[in-house]
Amino acid sequence: MPLYADIVLPLYQPTYTFEVVEGCGILVGDAVAVQFGAKAVYTGIVWRIHDKRPNAKRIKTVSQRLYDQPLLTPDQMRFWEWIADYYMCTLGEVMRVALPALIKPKGADEEAFEREQFRPRTEGFARLAEAVSTEERAKMERRAPKQYELLTLLEERGELRRAECDPTALTALRKKGFVKIVEREIDHSSMATDFATLPTLSEKQQEALEQISTGFDQVQTVLLRGVTGSGKTEIYMHLISSVLKAGGDVLYLVPEIAMTSQLLERVKRVFGERVTPYHSKITNLRRSEIYRRLRRSEGGEVVLGTRSALFLPLKRLQLVIVDEEHDSSYKQTEPAPRYQGRDAAIMLAHLYGAKVVLGSATPSIESYVRAATGKYREVVLSERYGGAQLPDVIISDTIRAAKRGERKSHFNKILLDKIEERLERGEQILLLQNRRGVSPFVSCGECGWTARCPHCNVTLTLHGGNKLVCHYCGHSIPMPHRCPACQTAEVALMGFGTEKIEQEIAALFPAARIARLDRDTMTSESACNRIVEAFERGETDILVGTQIITKGFDFSRVTLVGVLNADNLLNAPDYRAAERAFQTIMQFAGRGGRGAARGEVVIQTAEPDHPILQQVLRGDYDSMAREQSAERQSFLYPPYSRLVGITMRYSDATTLHRAAAELAEELRQRFSRRVLGPTIPPVDRIRGEHIIEIMLKIESGASFARARKILHAELEEVTRKPEYRKIVTICNVDAS
Ligand code: ADP
Ligand code: ZN
Ligand code: ZN
Repeated sequence: MPLYADIVLPLYQPTYTFEVVEGCGILVGDAVAVQFGAKAVYTGIVWRIHDKRPNAKRIKTVSQRLYDQPLLTPDQMRFWEWIADYYMCTLGEVMRVALPALIKPKGADEEAFEREQFRPRTEGFARLAEAVSTEERAKMERRAPKQYELLTLLEERGELRRAECDPTALTALRKKGFVKIVEREIDHSSMATDFATLPTLSEKQQEALEQISTGFDQVQTVLLRGVTGSGKTEIYMHLISSVLKAGGDVLYLVPEIAMTSQLLERVKRVFGERVTPYHSKITNLRRSEIYRRLRRSEGGEVVLGTRSALFLPLKRLQLVIVDEEHDSSYKQTEPAPRYQGRDAAIMLAHLYGAKVVLGSATPSIESYVRAATGKYREVVLSERYGGAQLPDVIISDTIRAAKRGERKSHFNKILLDKIEERLERGEQILLLQNRRGVSPFVSCGECGWTARCPHCNVTLTLHGGNKLVCHYCGHSIPMPHRCPACQTAEVALMGFGTEKIEQEIAALFPAARIARLDRDTMTSESACNRIVEAFERGETDILVGTQIITKGFDFSRVTLVGVLNADNLLNAPDYRAAERAFQTIMQFAGRGGRGAARGEVVIQTAEPDHPILQQVLRGDYDSMAREQSAERQSFLYPPYSRLVGITMRYSDATTLHRAAAELAEELRQRFSRRVLGPTIPPVDRIRGEHIIEIMLKIESGASFARARKILHAELEEVTRKPEYRKIVTICNVDAS
């Protein structure tokens, strides 16, 4: 009986069915080369093998396994299926993020490629190739002391790691034929597990570690809430060490690539070669080597990476660490799969029976609520290691400063005075200016009033210069000429960027050395590292940046951090704006005063009494979390509901709007008031295509799986109509 294989291809399309050539030994989970379309050869993944002949005249065959072992384990396949189902995408789209682009055949080079893929991870060692005569040695000692030194060392030790040798001397000795390099496979099983450099924990840290371990007896996930500098990383190291001792694997996730380099060094110092960094800026070749190597590994691996590392084959996964779990960068927004790395990590761990530590100084409201309801165990570290103090917070009113003539450019006098003081003392300064959003909000220059949506509890954003619109439900009001609150001033557009701040600060302090870190200057990993390292070495006095500078970095000489415009954060048109503002400012404050001197934080704002800023002032996470979760509950936002954003794109606005209205109407019949919109976003056209959005808000308790199914069917229904067929629709599950 002929067999058929449903194969996932790295395309939007669902699986395709091929006939399996008899006796070729293809297994479920295998990577195979298949011909698809006229000429294209793709790597596909065999998802299912069955005997049901599909309804087609001609069926292509598959016979070529690419590797001698399936590329995916059954656990991984279940994980992909969960991602595709939950985040409403195809397995092909999951494949595109999950497998490094290089795991694919390249026509005639296939064999060479395969050999390349099979190469185990090796390390070069230098050894003596032949004896060196006494004259030769004497000559070398006089003329080439470096070579002589290396030679003597090799004679003493027998062999040296290539990385330990002076590269120039090594090349010279190899040319002369005295030294050879042998490649040896790195063998993890023989690696030591007594990590001598593991830090000794303080009493408080030890207590937290024990609480985590006992927590794991009862729940899968522990939330470690520890103020910045409390030693969360050191606790992770201890957890990692016990997993490695038991032969397990660890996945250590961080939200941004920029955070991996400082951390990698630190983790490598303890665990050495077992640590593998993984993120999107690593070359495809290297990534695919890593994948193949891990697929063969028998445990003892630590992968330090960003969210895409979730797809690596860690057979013995026992622990997943999600550091800075609150960070919004864990969510992929473009392209599909639009997955939340933290949430996916919890599902992955569940599939593997592994444990999860979510770490943060300021956990997300979602995790806070889950901890409060007993789903997670919470462990708290409230002091910095070594008794270091958290910085002092000063809130500085921009409106009052302007009235008193104590404001220059975008700086209040108090901030300028403090900058000057730090420059004189040779200390460093960080200045935060979050990126000017794509959604400009308006505010009163006199009283700080901002327009908010009465239904959705978010700020309204300006559209077309004269209308204020809610981007969740579409509620709109005309732009007021006079402030409705104080009736005295005009309402004006807010927002300025990092570049502007950099220019202004340069003009105010011409002697200061200033650098900027944002999307524009962070063109590559090395560009980012250069800026960060120069600042670490003290070659820059002031670093101006977007949120990116609030993350993870450990700058010991920073004693002042300034938030240029907290209002920008507080008034972002997002139901998470308040939570995010608190997290960003607290995180940022944590960058200062890590050294001996106590740090200071200056926050400029038009709303000094804003409850979030008062909570920042007191470092009061609990009040913030309590209030925010109450608000979430009353406006039915996550975690009390789930949001699905539906974006539709098309070149013709009229057709698009008609389609969106029809879809919304259909959805309303099924979901009634849970459907918001359609609304036109602030940026309503990208590359000639118009955009319109609908939001679905499903309260928790209702079946979300069923809701997704209905939504999927309705979308198909509408886009099946000939006039709408070319409209692109995108679903973003757990959108904000
Ligand atoms: P967090 O991750 O909570 O921000 P870190 O783990 O980065 O905190 O610790 C902050 C600083 O304190 C680091 O420089 C770290 O090396 C140091 N530190 C924390 N705990 C210890 C410890 N037990 N022994 C030695 N140094 C520690
Ligand atoms: Zn006003
Ligand atoms: Zn609204």
